[in-house]
Amino acid sequence: MNKKWKLLMISLTLFLFAACGKVNSEPHKLDFFAMDTIMEFSAYADEDVLSAARDIVMGIEERVSTTSEQSELYRLNRDGGGTVSDETAVLLETALSLCRLTGGAFDVSIYPIVKAWGFTTGEYRVPSFDETAALLENVDYARIRLNGDEVTLPDGMEIDLGGVAKGYAGREAANYLRERGVTSALLNLGGNVQTIGSKPDGSPWRVAVRDPLNASVYAGVVEVRNQAAVTSGGYERCFTADDGETYWHIMDPATGRPARNGILSATVIADDGALCDALSTALFIMGAERAERFWRNCKESFEMVLITEDGKTLVTSGLVYAPQETAPYTVRTLTR
Ligand code: ADP
Ligand code: MG
Repeated sequence: MNKKWKLLMISLTLFLFAACGKVNSEPHKLDFFAMDTIMEFSAYADEDVLSAARDIVMGIEERVSTTSEQSELYRLNRDGGGTVSDETAVLLETALSLCRLTGGAFDVSIYPIVKAWGFTTGEYRVPSFDETAALLENVDYARIRLNGDEVTLPDGMEIDLGGVAKGYAGREAANYLRERGVTSALLNLGGNVQTIGSKPDGSPWRVAVRDPLNASVYAGVVEVRNQAAVTSGGYERCFTADDGETYWHIMDPATGRPARNGILSATVIADDGALCDALSTALFIMGAERAERFWRNCKESFEMVLITEDGKTLVTSGLVYAPQETAPYTVRTLTR
């Protein structure tokens, strides 16, 4: 789907689900462009507090953009390491811990592979197996050294925090708003949804899960209170090659190719937005069986909605999920 449609869908989703329900007073709203997407903040907060929350997101983008020559991450990738700010060190440590948690399904050192497929420039191509095999030699988050604020990358390695930055930014913005006494907010960071509290009338926020096969409808709605909800789907950024195959931007570090393990979209709901973001990417890569096992054994608590190629929606038992009646999926509840 092209970018214009993606942005339109995000706006529509928000319009439908942020605005429903009667509220006592109107929230403040703030829309802005960051991290390559439209972000929409809506909070029962003063305008300047909401602007400061936006600045937190912009600050994170400035530090870890892969393309801006001024960013700390750009310098790390160019120089093979260096000293970073405390903020970037914390984000990097968070990202590395999520790489470890997922056993490397989520791997921030995947960047050369993402580039080889053209996802950073939009000049899409299908690299040969030899090319991806050679690039995979340098993919291994475990070889990244982070010592306080000192980072060392092995030769040839480059990192990309695109799979975790939006969720992390949502978490940081929400923490700031909570500190400022905000008890009700909905922050949409380009489809990464972060909530604070519930709606002012006490009812939960309702977040739509898109139908991965049909951009104009949703498959169901999850109820969320004070948590984040993040979806990863192959439909978000993809291209169809001359061979007729569709390739997307979520890469399997085991193969160096777009992950195609039977999942069309993975949605994660948890307290921590960074965890949601990285896990939604990782579960998509794992495929349903491995994802289900991971959910049972994971030391972090989270809920998920997996929509699979064979027409199922797998929903973990801790969630309130309302499927759309017309959605073509059989819903199965996963219990521990
Ligand atoms: P989006 O950014 O579209 O919301 P995701 O959160 O799923 O989607 O992240 C996908 C992005 O993460 C890709 O654009 C790429 O930059 C990066 N990425 C792709 N595969 C992986 C992976 N296996 N581990 C970590 N990051 C990845
Ligand atoms: Mg992600």
